[in-house]
Amino acid sequence: MRYISTRGQAPALGFEDVLLTGLAPDGGLYVPEKMPTFSQQEIAAMASMEYPELAFTIMKPFIDGAIGDEDFKRLIDESYATFRHKAVAPMVQLGKNEWVLELFHGPTLAFKDFALQLLGRLFDFVLKRKDERVVIMGATSGDTGSAAIEGCRSCKNIDIFILHPHNRVSDVQRRQMTSVLEDNVFNIAVEGNFDDCQNMVKASFADQSFLPNGRRLAAVNSINWARIMAQIVYYFWAGLSVGAPERKVAFSVPTGNFGDIFAGYLAKQMGLPISQLIIATNKNDILHRFMSQNKYETHGLEHTLSPSMDIMISSNFERALFELSGKNADKINQFMTDFAAGSASIGDDAFAKARELFDSYAVDDALTVETIRRVYEESEYLLDPHSAIGVKAARECVRDSAIPMITLATAHPAKFADAAKAAGQEDAPALPHHMADLMSREERYTVKPDDLAVIQQFIADSLK
Ligand SMILES: *Cc1c(COP(=O)(O)O)cnc(C)c1O
Repeated sequence: MRYISTRGQAPALGFEDVLLTGLAPDGGLYVPEKMPTFSQQEIAAMASMEYPELAFTIMKPFIDGAIGDEDFKRLIDESYATFRHKAVAPMVQLGKNEWVLELFHGPTLAFKDFALQLLGRLFDFVLKRKDERVVIMGATSGDTGSAAIEGCRSCKNIDIFILHPHNRVSDVQRRQMTSVLEDNVFNIAVEGNFDDCQNMVKASFADQSFLPNGRRLAAVNSINWARIMAQIVYYFWAGLSVGAPERKVAFSVPTGNFGDIFAGYLAKQMGLPISQLIIATNKNDILHRFMSQNKYETHGLEHTLSPSMDIMISSNFERALFELSGKNADKINQFMTDFAAGSASIGDDAFAKARELFDSYAVDDALTVETIRRVYEESEYLLDPHSAIGVKAARECVRDSAIPMITLATAHPAKFADAAKAAGQEDAPALPHHMADLMSREERYTVKPDDLAVIQQFIADSLK
């Protein structure tokens, strides 16, 4: 299995290099040169598998021998043993053909654990083999940082530095990061906003000379191919549980950077009979506007009740455009040039292809709260605001009510208690048992000014 860049100017890589590289040197994102596929019979045989075995079966062709089967199985087992539900990703029924796939039973209560639990272990495994250490540096407005820290806390060959905007993440989100006390974990609270954090991370990737002893940076954001790979699995898991491959299935996905829903697109390429994929966005609706008018243009950032979807640009959308354009890197380069100049479109054929599979819907805060309230009244089921956006979009965009519609529930409602309160829940939803003492745990983090030199010096000193 070789991986190629969407911009066409970077060398093709094998799995191990694609794992450690992140962004391609030409600015593109890596995708498999050719997608593996499963026959209907092979998919039917997956129905009896537990989650880890299914994960192994789906991901094995992407690893393609870069990690031995026994080792890879062990890494998967360890990754999903951290989840607090026996089914790993349980399905909950909301209506006749309406389901929610709960992806929030991992250590940080959001779906990012599915990819980041595995990613940390994959990194550690290949680094140990190469006798190398890397530095992970990332910026977070909440979910990614805590999931990355949880994924890397027990990795011996990784030091992880996560920047978050000081006093601008919720208490739960901060504590999920700062109560991890391992020596290889460094939380930096930056006196600035999320963009300031992000810009310092970008600058550090561009010039890594501040790192001591030839160390290099590795990326944990959703441009890393291995994250997408791990997310394909639960589409199969959910589809199988409602009758695929004999039956078709539809999915609604709360979307920000397009990583999660792109994994659904790939599941379809691999043989899962997905009839419809719904892009559910909040007011940050660049994707909904694109799907409506074939115009890709940024607007200003809106702060919403669903902060993990507050984005201006969807970085993984480039991967989808590359597929829709027939893997034509020239077209992607043109698209990105046009986009940088203000507005970009794709050809009519590619746009028609996109509309065949994808629908989209944008849900504002008022409608998010209204949906949380309604679903609670109907079923006494409490949705978090991100998942509520998914359910609302599913109800608006459903094409065929005979096909099971599955909304990905991307976070636990206790993580976003404000939205639950706004929807009439008098008491804040309780954190799960294993986190009940979160608010009294010891914390460790360093507050630093919004100054690249200061941050880089701190990192360099911490690595000595
Ligand atoms: C990250 C995140 C999303 C968006 O996922 P993308 O892969 O960026 O589209 C949605 N919901 C929650 C809770 C998240 O943490």
